[in-house]
Amino acid sequence: MSNILVIAEHLDGKLNGATARAVSAAAAVKPESIDVLVLSDAPDAVAAEAAKIDGVSKVLTVARAENAHPLAAVLAPQVAKAAAGYTHVFAPSTTFGKDLAPRVAALLGVGQVSDVITVESSHVFTRPIYAGNAIITVEAPASQMVVATIRTASWPAAGSSGSAPIEALAVDVALPSHTRFVELKQGKSDRPDLQGAAKVVSGGRGVGSKENFDIIYKFADRIGAAVGASRAAVDAGYVPNELQVGQTGKIIAPELYMAVGISGAIQHLTGIKDAGTIVAINKDGEAPIFEIADIGLVGDLFKILPELEAALG
Ligand code: FAD
Repeated sequence: MSNILVIAEHLDGKLNGATARAVSAAAAVKPESIDVLVLSDAPDAVAAEAAKIDGVSKVLTVARAENAHPLAAVLAPQVAKAAAGYTHVFAPSTTFGKDLAPRVAALLGVGQVSDVITVESSHVFTRPIYAGNAIITVEAPASQMVVATIRTASWPAAGSSGSAPIEALAVDVALPSHTRFVELKQGKSDRPDLQGAAKVVSGGRGVGSKENFDIIYKFADRIGAAVGASRAAVDAGYVPNELQVGQTGKIIAPELYMAVGISGAIQHLTGIKDAGTIVAINKDGEAPIFEIADIGLVGDLFKILPELEAALG
């Protein structure tokens, strides 16, 4: 029987929605128990949120001053120690999880299963390869603990009507001092978070400049969407790197994705594989984005977006 430890991702005292998605993947293993581990200097608020996730057996908290900021080098030894007795350790395949899980796997002396999109059995999983062009089946050794990252876009968030008990855990392990927190730089925005937004409007090289990107922001605000971008738009300096969608950016699964002035390169499409309705606006009717778009509008984005906005009333 399996017992799974899911590592909670959180920031500023709030649980990240990626955690509930990782719990869904854990539930697919049909384990005996799913525990969530919250590492923080003050874990109470996050633990209370985690306790509500459906399917969680209990929430374990490790309160240490060193956990005030999520440094993988500092968290990994604690996770490895807390993992004793579990058959699986799951983390979301976000920047946080991708940073942390390999260190945990290395400390436990096992290989990591990355980017799980389906669970076939307790030790057999599938994951995308070649920018999502192929799906590979991966079998982890049954004799070893499984450390895996979960592709959050492929899993729905577990519900939030649970009431799991919360227990404090003392993890007696020496922490490294070679890595220290200096500063967190993050863009401040009132728009929805790109990773979890239900609607996303993305702009590409076709938008033409940083100033022109205002048309994307304006339209996104009009429909309450997050803003994304292609790598070409990021590389050209139109928008910050954190807005990049795709293979080397964010993998997202919004209900509505609007690709504006984006050609539809495979590396971009891999980031929106699980999106609901895809709308493409491009002046080139032959652009590959139209092959996957549910709704395609061929024309100049600077004409179409204002028209759409006007039609919204
Ligand atoms: P382009 O391909 O230049 O397309 C611009 C489009 O805008 C064109 O189709 C054009 O017809 C249209 N257009 C121009 N003007 C207008 C207008 N006025 N109105 C309407 N349409 C207009 N890319 C990503 O996006 N995300 C990634 O994570 C990513 N990772 C990569 C990883 C690797 C290893 C590599 C090699 C590449 C990666 N890329 C990634 C880059 C990718 O291959 C493409 O170069 C990039 O996605 C192209 O961006 P784009 O569609 O904005 O630009």
